[in-house]
Amino acid sequence: MTPKSIEEIQRGLKAQTFSCSQLVEHYLTNIRQHKGLNAFVEVFEQDAKEKAHAIDQKLGNAPESLGDLFGVVISVKDNICIEGKQVTAASDILQGFTSTFSATAIQKLEEQDAIIIGRTNCDEFAMGSSNEHSVYGPTINGVGTNLVCGGSSGGAAVSVQTDCCTIALGSDTGGSVRQPAAFCGVIGMKPTYGRVSRHGLLAYASSFDQIGVLGHKVQDVEKVTRIISGEDRMDATTSNRPFPTPSSTQDSFKIATFRQINTNEGIHPEILQSYQQLLEQLKSQGHEITTVDFDLMDFVIPAYYVLTTAEASSNLSRYDGIRYGNRKAGKDLEDIYRKSRTEGFGTEVKKRIMTGNFVLSSGYYDAYFQKAQQARRLIRNRLQEVFSEADLICLPTSPTPPWKIGTKINDPISVYLADIFTVLANLAGIPAISLPYGTHKNGLPIGIQFMAETFREDKLFQLTRQIDM
Ligand code: GLN
Repeated sequence: MTPKSIEEIQRGLKAQTFSCSQLVEHYLTNIRQHKGLNAFVEVFEQDAKEKAHAIDQKLGNAPESLGDLFGVVISVKDNICIEGKQVTAASDILQGFTSTFSATAIQKLEEQDAIIIGRTNCDEFAMGSSNEHSVYGPTINGVGTNLVCGGSSGGAAVSVQTDCCTIALGSDTGGSVRQPAAFCGVIGMKPTYGRVSRHGLLAYASSFDQIGVLGHKVQDVEKVTRIISGEDRMDATTSNRPFPTPSSTQDSFKIATFRQINTNEGIHPEILQSYQQLLEQLKSQGHEITTVDFDLMDFVIPAYYVLTTAEASSNLSRYDGIRYGNRKAGKDLEDIYRKSRTEGFGTEVKKRIMTGNFVLSSGYYDAYFQKAQQARRLIRNRLQEVFSEADLICLPTSPTPPWKIGTKINDPISVYLADIFTVLANLAGIPAISLPYGTHKNGLPIGIQFMAETFREDKLFQLTRQIDM
C-alpha cells in the first residue's frame, strides 16, 4: 500500500472511509512489523490510541474544531522534548530522564491535533551520519540488508520509509535530516536557521541546529514546516519573518550548480548521473541552469567540524552527573565528574568534546576556532553572491550511497568528508531540502538537494512540487 498523504488522510477521515483509530492501528501494525529495523526507541501506543479516539469523536461532534493536522501521525527524534516522556539523545548519560515540558515545535503540532506516535533512534546527541553511534544500537535501512540508514536522524527516516507514520521530526546540524532522507528514499527538509524554535531541542551546536521535517510528499513537508515555524520568546534566535506562500506567478527558476561538482572524484558516478538527469529534467521544464564557481569547497568540512565540536564541548558540559545526566559514584567531586562523563558518553561524543576543547584552548583558539569562523563568513558571503544571480542551488545530498553497517566505524574521516554537500546549508543558515531522485543500479535510493537564500523556503517548495520523483 502506498503511504497516504496528509490530504488523502484528512479526506478519508472526513468521508468516513476509515477512522482515525483504524489509521493509528495501521501505523502501529507497521511499527510492530518493522521492529527489527530498530527505528523506534519507544512507542506511545496508549497515548496515540486515546488521541485517535478523541479525534474520531471530534470528527463526529465538532469537525469545525479540528486542527490543521488532525489525523497526521508523527514520530519524534529522541532529542526533542515531549512533556512527561523520556528524552535521551540515544545516550547512556540521559537514561531515565523525563522531560517536564514539550519543545515549542511539539506544542505547535499538538495544538493542531497531530498524533505523536513515538520516539525515534538517532546518533548520540545527533553526532554522526549512520545512526551507528546510539546506545540502542544501529537503526537499519529498510531498503536492503544490513545497510546504514544515514544519520543522525536515522530512526526518523526509517519510520517514514516503512510507513510507520506520516511525518517525522528530526534535527539537522550538518545534514542529519537530509542525508538519512536521501539514504532511505524520502524527503527531508532543513528550514532556515531561526525559522523553527530550538526550545526543547537538546543542543549539539547551537548556531547550526534546526528541527527539520521528513515525509513522502512535498506538500506534507511544507505544511508541517509552516506549522512549526515562527517567533518564540523561548528562543531568541527565532525570527518573525513571514513564511511566504509559494508564488503561483514564478514558475521558472534560475538554478545554480557548482563547477567543482563535475570534477569531484569523491562522488559516486551513479549519483552524478542522477544529478545530471535531474538538471536535464529541470531544463526541459523551462528552468535555467547556470554553473558557478564555488572554490571554497576545501574549507567546508574543516570549518564545520571545528565550529560544531567547539559548540558541542560547551553545550555538553552540563552533563556532569550533578546538574544533568546520570551520576556515577566517585570518591570526590572531580571523580564523580570524570566517571559520570567517561561512562555516560559514547566514543564519538567524547572524541568531539575533546576536539572542541582543543580548538577552543588558549594556545589554539586563533589558529582553529577563529580561522573556522572566518571561513564560515567567507562561505556565507560567497553563497549570498550566488543567490544574487540564482534562485536556488542544486547539489547531490550525499556523495556516497548507504554502506554496510560496521564497515566505516574505523574510518571516521571518510564519514566526515561525506557531509560536504549538506553542511554548507548549516554553515550559511540557509534552508535546504533533499528529494529522492533515481536509484543506484542495485536499487538503493539517491537524494538530490536544493538550497535557497534565507527565509525563502517558498522557492524550495515551489520548485520541488514540480519535480517528478
Ligand atoms: N553528520 C553530521 C555530524 O556528524 C551531521 C550531524 C547533524 O546534522 N546533527 O555532525
